[in-house]
Amino acid sequence: MFELTGQPIDSTALRARLARPDAGACVVFEGWVRNHHAGKPVSRLEYEAFDELARFEGEAITSEAEQEHPGCTVLCVHRTGSLGIGELAVWIGVVSPHRHAAFLACRQVIEEIKRRLPVWKKEHHSGNLAEWVNCTTESVAGRLAPENYYARQASLPEVGAAGQARLAEASVLVVGAGGLGCPAALYLATSGVGRLTLADAGKVEVSNLHRQILFTADDVGAAKATVAAARLRAQNPLVKIEAHASDVTPANVRALVTGRTAVLDCTDNFATRFLLHDACRSAGVPLVSAAVYRFEGELNVFRPDAPGCLHCLWSGRAPGELEAVANCAGAPVFGPAVGVLGVLQAAETLKLILDLVPPRNPPATRLVNLLDLSTQAIERPADPACPVCGNPVSAPPQRTDLPDSAPVVLTAEQLAALGPVRIVALLEPGETLDASTAPAAAMALPMGDLVSVRELAAQGGPLVLTCRHGLRSAALARLFRAEGFRRIYSLGGG
Ligand SMILES: [Zn+2]
Repeated sequence: MFELTGQPIDSTALRARLARPDAGACVVFEGWVRNHHAGKPVSRLEYEAFDELARFEGEAITSEAEQEHPGCTVLCVHRTGSLGIGELAVWIGVVSPHRHAAFLACRQVIEEIKRRLPVWKKEHHSGNLAEWVNCTTESVAGRLAPENYYARQASLPEVGAAGQARLAEASVLVVGAGGLGCPAALYLATSGVGRLTLADAGKVEVSNLHRQILFTADDVGAAKATVAAARLRAQNPLVKIEAHASDVTPANVRALVTGRTAVLDCTDNFATRFLLHDACRSAGVPLVSAAVYRFEGELNVFRPDAPGCLHCLWSGRAPGELEAVANCAGAPVFGPAVGVLGVLQAAETLKLILDLVPPRNPPATRLVNLLDLSTQAIERPADPACPVCGNPVSAPPQRTDLPDSAPVVLTAEQLAALGPVRIVALLEPGETLDASTAPAAAMALPMGDLVSVRELAAQGGPLVLTCRHGLRSAALARLFRAEGFRRIYSLGGG
């Protein structure tokens, strides 16, 4: 709940409104009018708001906090008009069965109110002097001058004032605020990338803390994107940081990617990686992608106009290698390995923005192994038959913006209920179609033959993929779902 009021705030009455028999904690924040600011004495304050807009935004902020911290009830009241020293300007109360969630939700509302609420304040100093102060920047204006913040970076001849201005104009999307996304976003923010958006639907878990360096133990349970954005704003208040605390889906990917200077793929799953890759390619945005497995990581920069895309890379890969990449969520990982790869992603992105990539660098997959400290560049050849960057056999289908609700992985019963279907068994090299494991009526295709699978999917009607363990067929079905094919499935268990 959010309210604007021209009357003095009665904190006792507000607290009584939040009373709930199941509440074990009430966390209250009170913002008071103080008699000084930025070294100047203040005699009183005036708050002015765009009422309609402030109510709408305030309501959005409090309900977001309630959704992200289930069990919490949030009430926020903001004063408008003329306030004397010591008066309450803003009151935020959160009740919850447990104190941890209440603290997190309260902190989130404080941050978001400060950042998003269209409220302005006028400071009255001694005599008749007064000045308007934007609440969102008042704490940093005057304290942090960009020329000081970026001095050591801008003095590089490769950067300079012109490069710094380029960075300030850049807009970068980081998908995944995990082990890769945390260090990548940190360096992009501190380098002065003007607009940075963090997309992650996840919440901070205890098992994240060993490598996801933007989070502390106090953040467990909070939305990753929101916490990370708040940390980055504190790190560099000169840049604009946005949080997108939900999944990147076929329905929203285009809006998130379009108009960006670069996109970072810091995800740990195969379907999102392909979704981002294809959206970036069609929007003409470079994608800086990394993946880490145990002590080893790989880095790929996909330029939208160059051949040698993620589909080419995928189709040339051995199945075992693919499985490691496809299923790295929850896999063992060496913390510094994601740290190094995330920082490399930031460096490659900054080089793209500053136009510092050597022009003759052929597309390559860069491998970094932290166990033997070796690095390797493997040329990334383009597949001339690639349906995405080569000469496609058939044009990729029109993607739909509809979310898919049908499960990707089917049980045998669900398969039977589908009626007549086409079943494709995906075979590894040397494997043959085995009547005891593959369902009747299955036809066989080599595992890497994406083009044929795409053609079959484009013909319409339900298409069911199987493979020996059911892992790669499920990954592939998700990939095609993400591309807009809504009637493609994988048979559970292979
Ligand atoms: Zn390709």
